Amino acid sequence: MKPVGPIPAGYAAIDGELAIAGRKASEIVDEAGSTPLFVYSRELIEARVQKLRDALPERIRLNYAIKANSFAPVLQHVSQIVDGLDIASAGELEMVRGIGYDLTRVSFAGPGKRDAELEAAIAAGVTLNLESENEARRALAIGEKLGVVPRLAIRVNPDFELRGSGMKMGGGAKPFGVDAARVPALAREIVDAGCDWRGLHIFTGSQALSAEAVIDMQAKVLDCAHRIASEAGVPLPKLNMGGGFGIPYFAGDEPLDLDAVGEALERELAALPDTLAAADLFVELGRYIVGEAGVYLTRIVDRKESYGETYLVTDGGLHHQLAASGNFGTVVRRNYPVAIATRFDAEPVEEANVVGCLCTPLDRLADKAHLSRAEIGDLVAVFCAGAYGASASPSAFLGQGPAAEVLI
Ligand SMILES: *Cc1c(COP(=O)(O)O)cnc(C)c1O
Repeated sequence: MKPVGPIPAGYAAIDGELAIAGRKASEIVDEAGSTPLFVYSRELIEARVQKLRDALPERIRLNYAIKANSFAPVLQHVSQIVDGLDIASAGELEMVRGIGYDLTRVSFAGPGKRDAELEAAIAAGVTLNLESENEARRALAIGEKLGVVPRLAIRVNPDFELRGSGMKMGGGAKPFGVDAARVPALAREIVDAGCDWRGLHIFTGSQALSAEAVIDMQAKVLDCAHRIASEAGVPLPKLNMGGGFGIPYFAGDEPLDLDAVGEALERELAALPDTLAAADLFVELGRYIVGEAGVYLTRIVDRKESYGETYLVTDGGLHHQLAASGNFGTVVRRNYPVAIATRFDAEPVEEANVVGCLCTPLDRLADKAHLSRAEIGDLVAVFCAGAYGASASPSAFLGQGPAAEVLI
């Protein structure tokens, strides 16, 4: 038996079935017309943003990293309750344009921005988080060609990382950002070249559950930004402090103590150096905002035994849930929170493997999980599916195609 992850708060049972935003899973599926289906809850997203507003100092603004979930209705909904959006490609720029968003509130990070992407972003007034000196010079040249003053920030590759984070994005040699020691010179260069200087972006990692690690990281980010600004002799109009707030996916994971993070940040802000006194301060989050607000529903199409093990074969799989299958940056595969949605309040009575419909042994949604007895036709729910599900899975693999998505 292997444990499944903790089911996020905000889900209940109605008539024995999983209810999402007060509606039974089977009704939502009937209305949508098909499985597999991603269901995202408007109210859970709102509650999460409110929780952030309540816990973090008022001065801290909130950016949403749209790569976590760019389903247009979700993007539209989140964009109305946060302060800015972070994108990582011209494709994401088009998604943001598509919802009619104010593009001057968008910033664009990501290594390997092509000229056409720089051009589209500069023309739209998007802030570029520059990943290298070369990119800075290309951006300035494109701005000149277009007759548009580019809005430029520098992404810093700091000399520290977010401890205990699932994915490290700073500290040591990295394809992301400019090494901290070289940032002051580059800042002076682009300010002197007449860009619209937008400050610094320091992102150090993702999926941290330890408040202590986040607090430590934020103090180091503020200090690093101050040192760069002093050395460059330029004040910072804006500092994107990164994010990294994690959510519990696996058995034993404890939620991040957001209040502790907020209180520590309040103390930091009370003692900010001059270089940061006037800076707009942002945190950028993806999964923390939408991850727990989404459920992936898939239907059992077969139930079989093999050498004493039970397999529940579903119509979904890793082509929609790469992360839950354990193939998206995990070393040891562990079970996401998974349940039989149509028998949500039934006692777990058997050990079963939940697999997808792809012809590969990688396609597992739960291993040796303790579940209620399920039959063909039952729905399986995979929780924590609101981030890096549909947007980060190979939906073209084996010709299966994307899952439907609904925001309710
Ligand atoms: C992916 C990414 C994020 C969002 O990460 P989450 O773990 O979803 O919060 C934020 N900023 C940058 C630069 C990223 O690459």
